[in-house]
Amino acid sequence: QARGAFAKTGLFDAKSYGDPVANLSLMGDMLTGFENGDIFLAYQPKLNLQTQKIESVEALLRWRHPQRGMIRPDIFVTMAENTGHIRALTEWVAQRAVADQRTLADSGLPLRFSINVSGRQLGDGSLIELLDTLEVSSPDQLCFEITETAVMGDPDNAVSDMRAICEHGFSISIDDYGSGLSSLAYLKMIPAQELKIDRSLLLGLAPQSREAFMLRSTVELGHGLGMKVVAEGVEDVETLEILRDVGCDLAQGYFICRPVPLADLTDWLKQERPA
Ligand code: C2E
Ligand code: CA
Ligand code: CA
Ligand code: CA
Repeated sequence: QARGAFAKTGLFDAKSYGDPVANLSLMGDMLTGFENGDIFLAYQPKLNLQTQKIESVEALLRWRHPQRGMIRPDIFVTMAENTGHIRALTEWVAQRAVADQRTLADSGLPLRFSINVSGRQLGDGSLIELLDTLEVSSPDQLCFEITETAVMGDPDNAVSDMRAICEHGFSISIDDYGSGLSSLAYLKMIPAQELKIDRSLLLGLAPQSREAFMLRSTVELGHGLGMKVVAEGVEDVETLEILRDVGCDLAQGYFICRPVPLADLTDWLKQERPA
């Protein structure tokens, strides 16, 4: 089935990523990758737990390298950060996502879109240039997912870039919340509309467990700060039920739908919402 098409295919051998020459040649391949469609976006829906409707999708980078197979996005995003290609990559993602959003809306499926922004880029001003070039039907339909740790290096400049995002009317989601070092001091500074709970907080979840208590508290924290709360990495119905029970607003994960190319997403959405 098309939906499962991106389930773990042969992953590129991680050992060669340490080799600078190999990295450089891989970055050279990136340009070709964009041109011939080896690099593309997969979209994963977010389900509203109250209305049971899909209300937005997250864009995730995919690279099907002709010789090396599927290359994990976190790996080539890091590489792009280290070789100065990250601005171009983010710009490509943003323009592609906005174009795909328009295509979906034209076929009667208007949805909010989220894109991921590298923390490395935050605070260097490059995002601000990008914001002016995005032609979105309504800016509140585009969300930037940014990890909380992205703020830690240079809080002042990072927050000023985030304010620019908000001033354009776009929204911000705090990605991977609860993974790694979380700090309430940083959380307080970020002008976000969405809190995205990391998958690690869903592990070991059972009704009445300590994990469920922590989840509930995190959801309340998000709500108290005026944010919608999303859980990522939902893999089974039990987790989905606990999420609904603790008042989480949205859920995303393999249990609902895997990240899939636009054509498959369109088909899937049409099955979800028959005309
Ligand atoms: P992320 O933003 O936290 O994205 C969520 C990751 O969880 C995605 O991995 C997604 O495919 C995976 N996922 C979704 N549902 C489930 C589930 O039910 N179970 C499990 N185990 N995993 C699930 P993916 O696509 O491999 O992306 C990995 C990371 O690469 C992303 O983490 C993000 O940090 C980065 N990335 C992906 N696309 C982009 C992009 O366009 N720009 C930037 N800057 N980073 C990107
Ligand atoms: Ca994300
Ligand atoms: Ca995440
Ligand atoms: Ca994550």
